[in-house]
Amino acid sequence: MRKTVSLGNGLTIGGDGFVVMAGPCAVESREQLLTVAEAVAAAGAAVLRGGAFKPRTSPKSFQGLGEAGLRLLSDASNLTGLPVVTEVMDPRDVELVAAHAAMLQVGSRNMQNFPLLREVGRQRKPVLLKRGAAATLDELLLAADYIRNEGNGDVLLCERGVRGFDPSTRYLLDLAAVPVLRSRCDLPIIVDPSHGTGAAHLVAPMAKAAMLAGADGLLIEVHANPEQALCDGKQALRPEEFAALAAELRHLAPHSGRRWIGPVPVGGTLNEVRAAGRGVLVSPQQSSEEPS
Ligand code: PEP
Ligand code: MN
Repeated sequence: MRKTVSLGNGLTIGGDGFVVMAGPCAVESREQLLTVAEAVAAAGAAVLRGGAFKPRTSPKSFQGLGEAGLRLLSDASNLTGLPVVTEVMDPRDVELVAAHAAMLQVGSRNMQNFPLLREVGRQRKPVLLKRGAAATLDELLLAADYIRNEGNGDVLLCERGVRGFDPSTRYLLDLAAVPVLRSRCDLPIIVDPSHGTGAAHLVAPMAKAAMLAGADGLLIEVHANPEQALCDGKQALRPEEFAALAAELRHLAPHSGRRWIGPVPVGGTLNEVRAAGRGVLVSPQQSSEEPS
């Protein structure tokens, strides 16, 4: 029996389900985030992604909105009903990020940041652990053990490409990692075809291949206006491209033995909530206080 991880809103990752996490590389503004959040929810993504703390190669690049970005992610989560995954880079920020997110992301550059791994292991939210760009799968699994040894067993592994020799793609997406990891551990396995290829036109083919290779889900970057994106615009899908891919994946899911898991908003499906004219989806905390 493979491990499943619950995001606390009724959404479970792993098992026979297939989950897509989508959103912008970085949170840039309220409007940018809400536009994308609404679009990916409507297209069937179950989790909203977006970076508030951005690990950028150059210190001159946009570093993210920090705490203000986390607040926007909370708002977007409440408005769409989608739980949020966002990166934490500094052990001192773990509590803050955990207060705003349903799942914490440890980025590839921090896969062997052992103090950070221990700190995310001491809090209770699930952790999406991304493979380092030059890390072996053994090293990835040992990094996951650092988190689990602190008491947090809710770890998801993410293949996001390794450093190759050919600049035709940004990284070399190692899809064989999926069956290898499946044979070595029972943790859910996520594939990120956005960073793994670095090019929007390569995202859909690799996303479909990842599903057929046995991944439990995908992490995909989406931006309403990729040319204007402050980060990773070249690999961002436009909302309509994402919707087309999600429709294809939904169709493919049963052929790869998977159950498509769309948004699990509190109080009914997105369409039910819209049909009821509520427009705004409520968070679990709010719903318990709501008169029935
Ligand atoms: C990300 O997913 O936001 C990210 C920075 O990816 P990676 O750590 O894989 O480079
Ligand atoms: Mn990115």
